[in-house]
This record gives sequence, structure tokens and C-alpha cells, in this order.
Amino acid sequence: MTRIGAIEGGGTKFVVAVGTPDGQVGETETFPTTTPEETMDRTVQFFKDKGVDAIGFGSFGPVDLNPASATYGHIAKTPKPHWSGYDVVGHLKRHINVPIGFDTDVNGAALGEATYGAAKGLSSCLYITVGTGIGAGAVVEGKLVHGLTHPEMGHIFVKRHPEDTYAGKCPYHQDCLEGLAAGPAIEARWGVKAYELGEDHKAWEFQTYYLAQALMNYILTMSPEKIILGGGVSKQLHLFPRIREEVKRLLNGYVQHPAVLDTDSGYIVPPGLEDRAGITGALALGMQALKQQ
Ligand code: ADP
Ligand code: ZN
Repeated sequence: MTRIGAIEGGGTKFVVAVGTPDGQVGETETFPTTTPEETMDRTVQFFKDKGVDAIGFGSFGPVDLNPASATYGHIAKTPKPHWSGYDVVGHLKRHINVPIGFDTDVNGAALGEATYGAAKGLSSCLYITVGTGIGAGAVVEGKLVHGLTHPEMGHIFVKRHPEDTYAGKCPYHQDCLEGLAAGPAIEARWGVKAYELGEDHKAWEFQTYYLAQALMNYILTMSPEKIILGGGVSKQLHLFPRIREEVKRLLNGYVQHPAVLDTDSGYIVPPGLEDRAGITGALALGMQALKQQ
């Protein structure tokens, strides 16, 4: 039977697992992300006797995803100590000679949701994570969008809420979407942990205002058939009906589709794979690599 290896390589922890082509994740191990050598050795140790046919790797970024590039599969310049320029795919390849599907963690999650989750059976979707940062992966006509490098939809500009005096937290753009609406921005603005803010707190009005604008922009530019909102901040499920209403209000009848007009249509939803979106996404990357070999 086909066995697929999956690596969810995050900046703070690595999750490694063995799964099957139907998206089921079996034996799993989790360990902290330390130096690249130590972390990748531990990853190789896990897979050594598992007999996997392919491995999918959803990695924290930035990463080089261009197969024609000399540094394909490397971690790009990152403030994370020791990881800049590290050849993660090369390290894996030297020890386990199977096809390796490599992509960003958020692209992996998008492919996972498209293959096994909330967007299963559709040809396009957008997966957005609102957590420590904001990032999105897009599947269009069945394929992940890469383009020049990969999209960075969390760094778009949105109109400021008239009552928001917080300067913004993005080191590159200050008050881009991530700078205003990622978890650390919410916490810096209000001085409390995001999960401690009550549902009626002003914070969620701002959050709705910013996320709905972003979703409107994504709907207008790529017209995804499903929008999935994941990441820690999206665990605030009360945001969903509010964001759906605000998106409809902002679009103001311009997009005449029941997905937008009927706010109960299930168009903007939490991940179908729940907390397994990351690791199942890595599995989907592995499946794709196996099919493409
Ligand atoms: P990461 O983005 O690092 O992979 P998460 O998606 O869990 O991890 O995002 C972490 C951020 O999400 C933190 O800023 C945290 O405060 C926030 N967060 C986590 N859980 C919740 C919650 N239940 N409600 C609101 N914010 C949350
Ligand atoms: Zn930014």
C-alpha cells in the first residue's frame, strides 16, 4: 500500500507523519524547531524505516520554490538564526531517495483543503491563515499559484478603521493587513492575549473591518469558489457571520452570486480539516509529487 510522508515544518515546531493517499494521517511525531541540522536529522530519523513512497514538506518561509533555481528547496534569507540559505530539500534527498513535494506551509494547507477538506471537488479555493502572521495560498484550476515567487496576500493595504489609532506592526509596511490584523497586532493594540478578548470587544469590529476588505479584494481579483479562514485568530468563530455580512455589504451587489449574496451559503468557512490542515496539506504535497514523478 502507498505510504506518504508529511512534514509540517513550522518556525517553532516540526510535525512529521505517515499517511495514506486518501488523506488519513497515521503515526505522528512533534518536536521543537532548533538548528537546521538537528531538526532535519530528527526528521530523517523518523522516516528512515517507514518505507514512504514520497514526502510532502510544507515549510515556514521564505523559501525558494522555483525548480529552475540553483537554490530551489532552500530556506531563503530569514531572521531565524542558522536557517538562512539552508538546503532542507537537499538534506532530505541525501538520506531518503523518494519524490519530494516542497512548498510553503500555507500553500500546503491550501492544497490540503482543496484535496481533502472544505474545498474538495472544487477547482479553486483560497486558504488564509490569520495567526502570528497573515498568509494565503491559492488553488486555481486545480493548481497552487506560484508565479514569480509565491503570493503574499497578507501584506496588502486595507483602509484604516476610522477609530483605529494603532500604528501597525509589519516590519516592512507597518500598517498592511498583517500589520493591523495578525495576532501580535491585536495583542499589541489592546494589551491582552487575543483569546482573552470577549466577543463584544471592539477588537473584533476592527478585525471584521480589515479581514472583510481583504476578502473582498481577493474575491474581486481571483474569484475563488471557496474561502477558508484558518490560523489561531480564526478560532474566534463569531467572526465568521460578521465577516460574511461585511463582505456582502462592501461588495454592495456588484458580485451577483449566491455565494456572496446568501451569507449562509458556506462560502467563507473554517478549515474542513480543522487543526490537521497543515499536516494533511503536507501529505497532499507528497501525493502531488508522487503523481508528477
Ligand atoms: P502560527 O501562525 O504561529 O502558526 P497560530 O495560527 O496558532 O500559529 O497563531 C498564533 C496567533 O493566534 C497568536 O497571536 C495567538 O494569540 C492567536 N490565537 C491563538 N489562538 C487564538 C484564539 N483562540 N483566539 C484568538 N487568537 C488566538
Ligand atoms: Zn506587510
